[in-house]
Amino acid sequence: MSVEFEVVIGLEVHAELKTKTKIFCSCPTEFGGEENTHVCPVCLGLPGTLPVLNERVLEFAVRAGVAVDCEIANFSKFDRKNYFYPDLPKAYQISQYDLPICKEGKLEIAVDGEKKIIGITRIHMEEDAGKLLHSGNTITSSHYSLADYNRTGVPLIEIVSEPDMRSPEEARAYMEKLKTILEYIDVSDVKMEQGSLRCDANISLRPVGTSKLGTKAEIKNMNSFKALQKALEYEIERQQEVLEEGGTIVQETRTWDEEKGITVSMRSKEEANDYRYFPDPDLVPIIIEPDWVEEIKNSLPELPDAKRKRLVEKLGLSEYDAGIITESRALAEFFDKTVTLFNEPKTVANWIMGDFMRLLNVESIEVKDSKVTPEKMAALLENQADGKISGKMAKTVFEEMFVTGKTADEIIKEKGLVQISDEGSLGEIVDNIIEANPKSIADYQDGKKKAIGFLVGQIMKETKGQANPGVVNKLLQEKLSQL
Ligand SMILES: [Zn+2]
Repeated sequence: MSVEFEVVIGLEVHAELKTKTKIFCSCPTEFGGEENTHVCPVCLGLPGTLPVLNERVLEFAVRAGVAVDCEIANFSKFDRKNYFYPDLPKAYQISQYDLPICKEGKLEIAVDGEKKIIGITRIHMEEDAGKLLHSGNTITSSHYSLADYNRTGVPLIEIVSEPDMRSPEEARAYMEKLKTILEYIDVSDVKMEQGSLRCDANISLRPVGTSKLGTKAEIKNMNSFKALQKALEYEIERQQEVLEEGGTIVQETRTWDEEKGITVSMRSKEEANDYRYFPDPDLVPIIIEPDWVEEIKNSLPELPDAKRKRLVEKLGLSEYDAGIITESRALAEFFDKTVTLFNEPKTVANWIMGDFMRLLNVESIEVKDSKVTPEKMAALLENQADGKISGKMAKTVFEEMFVTGKTADEIIKEKGLVQISDEGSLGEIVDNIIEANPKSIADYQDGKKKAIGFLVGQIMKETKGQANPGVVNKLLQEKLSQL
């Protein structure tokens, strides 16, 4: 008889903070640059130097904490996490051990419409390590490696979740939600591909109905949401097989091999003791005033959940549409601004989720770099609502707008795109078409209602597509019923 297993997943997420300078020195955090040019004696860990905390790092960490309902510690400190690796010039990383800046938060996820709260254990501040460039393809086939310390000392927050997730889908939803929140509060670039948002997953199985946690594996190197989900799916299968064959899971760190689609053992997992944590004697403890936390709380923008709720309850969007629009702060703000100028939320949402998102995607453009502004989109929708142009014309105008950045009025004028809605002039054309197509009229009167489509087509052709299809249909129905 086979045992049914329950999946237990917790995530450790590292987000690089987008401060101008590093966490303990004034070197720039800018991505790239020639190797070892964004360094100084402090971040190179030279003897005799002293670190000084960048206040913005603290502010960003508190911002992240209050955004996910954490308690902010009024007393917090930095610790040294000791380990030897050439990407770490001091042979220790400055991190936070037992007194992190934030603890006991939560965020809400939704999978297939089911909402669930995921606990956040803690958020702490730490410094990033450098980068090694191996001479060969792999570390074992290399004769030497080069170290680049430009990233050393770039500020990070590590956000540790409770083991509350029960499926790869929930883990992905959590990660996506966290990314959205960090983007909204503007503390990180959150680019998984570039490494400014990274995620390690702890995963274990236990027999359904039991509460004791099984032995976990820690999975690293998942550089996209898809990779996270696939790695966890693979790992569940692997652990299940081991357990079903009567084996035991080894506590270890495994890496996701994207190409092969498998996780591979890297090393046995270190215990906290192995790091010999101790308080960093070079940094003073951090005392936080409640007023300052309150100030930061009040400065937060409307967060994704609140925004989604408002879009549904106040503006009448569906949960699905509101979910898509609020996934990115830039898109949500574009929507809000457009609606203030053209007050038909549903229409605006359709345009944003349809043509706008499609073109952004095709051209790989971010909302902030788009030539279409809320003002321009609202003016286009105004033209359509007035009946000046048809829906089809509006699509053409929008594409042109997206490429050239011209206004709808300019494009409409240039292309001579005017919709004819005037019943007098359209009536004449309709009469002519009816007269010229006796066969279709006879078909229509014989009950072949499809014939009307042909007639509409003829009228559109006659007017070079400028006739208002609604008016044409109405006139045709009227005139045919009078024959
Ligand atoms: Zn430096």
